Amino acid sequence: MEDRYNQMLEAFALAKKYLKQQRELGLEEVKLPSNFKIELKKDSNKNPLKEFYHKIKDCQRCHLHKSRTNFVFGVGDSKAGVMFIGEAPGRDEDLQGEPFVGRAGQLLNKILAAINFQREEVYIANILKCRPPENRDPLPEEIEKCEPYLIEQIKLIQPKLICALGRISAQALLKTNLPLNRLRGRFHDYQGIKFLVTYHPAALLRYPQFKKDTWEDVKLLRAEYDRMKGNRI
Ligand code: SF4
Repeated sequence: MEDRYNQMLEAFALAKKYLKQQRELGLEEVKLPSNFKIELKKDSNKNPLKEFYHKIKDCQRCHLHKSRTNFVFGVGDSKAGVMFIGEAPGRDEDLQGEPFVGRAGQLLNKILAAINFQREEVYIANILKCRPPENRDPLPEEIEKCEPYLIEQIKLIQPKLICALGRISAQALLKTNLPLNRLRGRFHDYQGIKFLVTYHPAALLRYPQFKKDTWEDVKLLRAEYDRMKGNRI
């Protein structure tokens, strides 16, 4: 009897070890040959940003869902120190499901490289997750419905610095009507996060004369990032 009891204990210990290994490999369920299914405890190391994506990816809160090809959530490091926030997906972004991948995106990559950031180490998102027709400006009611998603992304990522790309995201997040030239070039406070405003890369493609100011802005951003890093913030 005692032997049998010990054998059972051994079997349970082996089963426990096996299930633990499966969970470490990322599996949430194990199918047994006899069609029994054992639900394993959810992995507490899961990425909350990824979970949030799955929660909202089929959003139909505003009419833009009808014309989108893809929902454009955001891209980059889920624990990034810096977040770049634009306006809305354009044609290329809508087709590929990723923000800033068209010509403006290529320019953003160059700007990032110029201040020693890899695209993968920052986080890039937009105020709107779906493309407005013909790339028109987002409507106030669209921003009102979609902005809470971005706010949640900011909460989950907890960046130290935010850089708004263009008037639309700057005005929406700072709740102001001030024009971009009065907002850029200095830090604002957004819920305790340092917030800088600069030109949208698409505007720079149309008006290259704004590149000089943009360069000054992003140098400011990099200097502040380095200062914070040096202070181990
Ligand atoms: S733009 Fe935002 S609120 Fe509107 S459908 Fe897309 S995700 Fe939803």
